[in-house]
Amino acid sequence: MEQVIYDYTRQDASGASCTAHAWAKVPPRLTPEERDRAKERAKELLARHDAVLVAHYYVDGDIQDLALETGGCVADSLEMARFGRDHPAKTLVVAGVRFMGETAKILSPDKRVLMPDLDATCSLDLGCPPDEFAAFCDAHPDRKVVVYANTSAAVKARADWMVTSSCALAIVSHLKAQGDKILWAPDRHLGRYIQEQTGADMLMWNGACIVHDEFKGLELELLRKEHPGALVLVHPESPRSVVEQADVVGSTSQLLNAVISSQAQEFIVATDNGILHRMRQLAPGKTLLEAPTAGRSATCKSCAHCPWMAMNALQGVVACLETGVGEITVPEPTRSQALGCIERMLDFVARNPSAIAKPAQGFVPNVGAA
Ligand code: SF4
Repeated sequence: MEQVIYDYTRQDASGASCTAHAWAKVPPRLTPEERDRAKERAKELLARHDAVLVAHYYVDGDIQDLALETGGCVADSLEMARFGRDHPAKTLVVAGVRFMGETAKILSPDKRVLMPDLDATCSLDLGCPPDEFAAFCDAHPDRKVVVYANTSAAVKARADWMVTSSCALAIVSHLKAQGDKILWAPDRHLGRYIQEQTGADMLMWNGACIVHDEFKGLELELLRKEHPGALVLVHPESPRSVVEQADVVGSTSQLLNAVISSQAQEFIVATDNGILHRMRQLAPGKTLLEAPTAGRSATCKSCAHCPWMAMNALQGVVACLETGVGEITVPEPTRSQALGCIERMLDFVARNPSAIAKPAQGFVPNVGAA
């Protein structure tokens, strides 16, 4: 397996930040025959172990297809959390990155939660070390602590609220209306976008997603000139210069729904290109262009695909079900402390459904098994 190195922003309790290094692995590509065999084996093992596959939109298309063919789901972080919690299966196989597996375990402590590769992480999680974050919170006790889903269980244990990009605007608006001041972590771009939209008083942690941080405003302007009829869809983890050019800003589910429901035929998509697999299935015939990450200075590290999501491979799904390796554990009392902020978000979403995007699977009839 090949290893690649990435840079990410890491902050400490004083507010100072630096660049640190992280690594990811590139799983070997399967031949078509190996892929078919792995899919069949995974189906057999899912049924045998009373397991369901919960996949994120950014993982490999074969895993997304497997999830839908076996009664699992392909979704954003919010829907993954709800689906895993509500599904009766004894085992959840979470194809995504580590914080997603942890969230599933926090919500379903009696279920076994497996992941294809426990080393699949996230630059936002890495950039927000729990001890530094706790000290930062201690220094600002007058603020409500709101953390993005892309954080460790230990960081969530210190938070009042968890949010995802589907519900962050609605929840921060609610807190502002109550007169709360907010300590926001870890994504600086999403935090800035939410702050500008709501006018809330937000003290920001300095983290970023290494994928969305690479989208470039100037290169996007040039691409828009070449495709004047294209709608620009942007995930709010992107820099301001990119968000400012968006026709739609939203979570992965919201961007997917925009492609399905819009009359436009052409779209420029500024989020991880793993989402294009599901967009092509749900909106066949529409033209999807990847937003540019670095123009002429592009490198293999700015390819709009998360290196940690890419660590999820069919062979990992098979291996975790065959051997039980890749099981997620979240020790007490961290689990029960982290549960509070997640349940607060889920309760809010249940009480305010109109504030949240509809999941894509429910949007178009007769698509997918979920
Ligand atoms: S795409 Fe960005 S936010 Fe999502 S898991 Fe990868 S590094 Fe984290």
